Amino acid sequence: MNKVIILGAGAAPGVPSINNGWGACNPDNPKNYRTRTSAFIEYNGTQILIDTNPDINRQLTHHKIQRFDALLYTHAHADHVHGIDDMRGINRVTHKNLDFYCGKKTAEYIQHNFSYLLTEPDRVQDVVRMPSLVPHIIDANESFMIKTLKITPVEILEHCPESLGYVFEDGEIVYIPDFKIVPESVYTHIKKQPKLLIIPLTTPFGQVTHAGLDDVIDVIKRIAPQKAVINHMASECDYDWVNSVTPDNVEAAYDGMEINLD
Ligand SMILES: [Zn+2]
Ligand SMILES: [Zn+2]
Repeated sequence: MNKVIILGAGAAPGVPSINNGWGACNPDNPKNYRTRTSAFIEYNGTQILIDTNPDINRQLTHHKIQRFDALLYTHAHADHVHGIDDMRGINRVTHKNLDFYCGKKTAEYIQHNFSYLLTEPDRVQDVVRMPSLVPHIIDANESFMIKTLKITPVEILEHCPESLGYVFEDGEIVYIPDFKIVPESVYTHIKKQPKLLIIPLTTPFGQVTHAGLDDVIDVIKRIAPQKAVINHMASECDYDWVNSVTPDNVEAAYDGMEINLD
């Protein structure tokens, strides 16, 4: 089965958040309860996890996900990385190293903050006792394969010193992480109408490093997917409200949302 699971649909503070509670979100709608953002992709026989947010343990156990072929990181912000320690559980299930892929600066951040988790590609060690994550540094615009799945990292601008989105199979699935600007280079890698675009909103009005609703809708219209799913929403983004102000092919994400791509 080809599918995407939105493991968590929340921005960094989650919904409700410590500082803003439910904000503009209707607390009676369970779809407004949001843990932090990660996605699981199963496509053409390959399973991919994108980002290890701080809630990743509960998300993976809820969906009974114990293994995948590779882990992709978008950027070195805590809400996308800091669940990385939970990847020890994957080592303990698979009894082998876990490969993860990210840009150079994200790799440096992980090396600096989580060096105890890392190992060399060919080192054989007791993965039950020793965490064994293997970094692979990738460059924007340089496609690579995980099993039979073609993945093209694309450069996203003005959110983090380095931020990568991912285009799968020349555009069948497009994953845009936190962004302020989606540069022209991204569109050149989308060679077909995507079945699915996943794109963050964060807040409707935008911030210094986050696009607002108008910018998000502009990118969706430009990419023109069959379906767009908006994730990474803070407490300013009520589920029903987001659906009411976006085009018909757009749906707000919620924790545990499954999108069938068969
Ligand atoms: Zn984020
Ligand atoms: Zn971020």
